[in-house]
Amino acid sequence: MYGSQCVPHSVDLIPVSLPMTEPFRISSGVVDSKTSILVRIEEDGLIGWGEASPMSGAFYSKETPESTLAFLRAEAIPEWISLGSPGPDFIIQKLRETQSNRFGWTGLEGALWDLSLQQEGRSFRDTFGGNARSVESGLAIGIYPTIDQLVERCQYYLRDGYKRLKIKIEPGWDIEPLQAIRDAFPNVPLMVDANAAYRREHFTLLKRLDDFDLLMIEQPLASEDLEGHAELQRMITTPVCLDESADSADRVREAIRLKACKIVNIKIQRVGGLSAAKEIHDLCESEGIANWMGTMPELGIASLHGLYMATLSNCLYPTDVESSRRWFTEDVIQPEITVVDGLVTLPVEHQHRPFVDEARVEKYRMDLGN
Ligand SMILES: [Mg+2]
Repeated sequence: MYGSQCVPHSVDLIPVSLPMTEPFRISSGVVDSKTSILVRIEEDGLIGWGEASPMSGAFYSKETPESTLAFLRAEAIPEWISLGSPGPDFIIQKLRETQSNRFGWTGLEGALWDLSLQQEGRSFRDTFGGNARSVESGLAIGIYPTIDQLVERCQYYLRDGYKRLKIKIEPGWDIEPLQAIRDAFPNVPLMVDANAAYRREHFTLLKRLDDFDLLMIEQPLASEDLEGHAELQRMITTPVCLDESADSADRVREAIRLKACKIVNIKIQRVGGLSAAKEIHDLCESEGIANWMGTMPELGIASLHGLYMATLSNCLYPTDVESSRRWFTEDVIQPEITVVDGLVTLPVEHQHRPFVDEARVEKYRMDLGN
């Protein structure tokens, strides 16, 4: 709990851990529970909620729940207070000075936007969204021990009518599972995500992906290898989509200059907040590069932020935000996110801002040390 003499507010950093419905395996590791750091700021009777949502175990990024909590507690919140508790815009300025701890900044920024928009009587959609009333959702499926299990899981979840299917690939788990998926679901809009698992020596193999009529191949190569992505994009007709590489507007600008991609997946958490995400969206739109909204996946607060942004004009592919129950046995928002016929329609409770269930937050509060 923090306080300041000049602005009456309190800040709580609340680590929560929710069980996942099944373990999620990608090329770099596996997770079976979801830990987020919730940021709760109370000021003048209003409560703002944010979510910092790095994956556990540092296999997606260097930032973990533990490091993010420590950063928020020891650096971000004290700095925000020392500056006189400014509004959310100070964070994108901060990110121009230092490009680290983006997950932590995202959690604080979300809470500050929630507070300031309530104070101004505006909604997230007014500020960050477009006109669409509902959002197309895509299904993301991890890596399984057998191809039969993969096909069975796809079949199970595709009953909800998801608008496209994304499977995770890695060397040794690519052509065969893709062939099986194409045989089982010949007409489903399909894409693959490699989470940076391939190297330039795999280009001949990656060229074979052109046979599967994919919407895109997401992050085939290492995050820093923009030149490699450009070389690959010249060799293949399947559009290259950047995810891990697209961590700031400057990096995206460089990727576009090199022609390293045709599509950029925007993840609010990875880029440091809603303002940074909007900046990348607008840059891509002006350069003719398509976007869609990705997810870590996050709990409901951050997922709703993604859904608000997924209504923007340049988000041209289905989002990775799925129904809450796809990943978690419960969520911290009420009502939870549901997908019907592949569409998420925002419930009235979340039209303006995420409606958080504080009892659920308490139920899943955990001790993360420090
Ligand atoms: Mg990805």
